[in-house]
Amino acid sequence: MDDREPKHLARVVLGVDVGGTKITASAVDTHGNLTGRIQISTDISSPQATLKSIQNTVEQAISRSGLSRSDIQAVGLGIPGLIDPGSGIGIASVNLGWRDVPVKAWLEERLGLPCHIENDVRAAAFGEARYGTGRGLDNMIFLIIGTGIMAVVIQGSRIYRGSNGLAGEIGHAIIKRDSPQCKCGAHGCFEALATGPAIAARATQKVLEGRASQLASYSGKDVPSLTAEHVFEAAAQGDDVALETIHEVAEDVAYLIQFLALAYDPQVIVLGGGVTQAGVLFLHPVFRVLERMAEERWVFHRVYTSTLVQASRLGADIGVLGAAALAAQAV
Ligand SMILES: [Zn+2]
Repeated sequence: MDDREPKHLARVVLGVDVGGTKITASAVDTHGNLTGRIQISTDISSPQATLKSIQNTVEQAISRSGLSRSDIQAVGLGIPGLIDPGSGIGIASVNLGWRDVPVKAWLEERLGLPCHIENDVRAAAFGEARYGTGRGLDNMIFLIIGTGIMAVVIQGSRIYRGSNGLAGEIGHAIIKRDSPQCKCGAHGCFEALATGPAIAARATQKVLEGRASQLASYSGKDVPSLTAEHVFEAAAQGDDVALETIHEVAEDVAYLIQFLALAYDPQVIVLGGGVTQAGVLFLHPVFRVLERMAEERWVFHRVYTSTLVQASRLGADIGVLGAAALAAQAV
């Protein structure tokens, strides 16, 4: 079935981005336009309370949009953590304090609308495929680099999940064994090298080694308060340690992109997440390394083009649009 078939002129779905601190919901039309967008704080005092906050946010978004409940075809929810879209159960979410929460059943009963749930990063990838850079393409990879690293492979409007549902957990692939320990326990995972916290840790290490840098004021020996934002700010001002850190991280990210490009040969790799939002300061060094690799290696040269790797253009509402795309796909 072609899910873009224009059966209804006004096919509206509701997207809900469920975060550990806030929930954002909005009605979304077929073109990705938002109406009735609302954001409220997440009550994480209990799973029941969180579900109640989600219900409230959805009801307020419908009311704000001026639509009636019967105009909404389905509700999509992007939720952090391990999610089972089939059963509609939130299996585990550290941010929400969830264990085996029957999200879909609970919400459908109270909202009277079909609900579809998915992991938030995977939902965001659907958003890119439907409303963003991947629109109209048959296959793409969404690579998120923020507090974690994950790749989502989309082929023919479907997510490739693998046999254990772990396909795309590339953040825990090891590339430098003599590198810092990752939160998974291993040494040298991409996540230990290129996430926001990893960028801060790499810069902190250089400062602790005695390198002169304006970042020294942030990194006390006992409680380093340096963040990736500080590193990008300092790099923009020409700080050597900050620039060196970003170039090292950019090289590791370029290798990660090269692995993905050669493993899947996608039409596009869309970059999302907090680290890539640093913009040209981060992306230009990544592109320079990729171009160098494409010049030096003929196999990579065959898959690499100047448009293969692109930053997400969906902005701050990528979570809502992703959840909406999930619902639209299910309709
Ligand atoms: Zn790891």
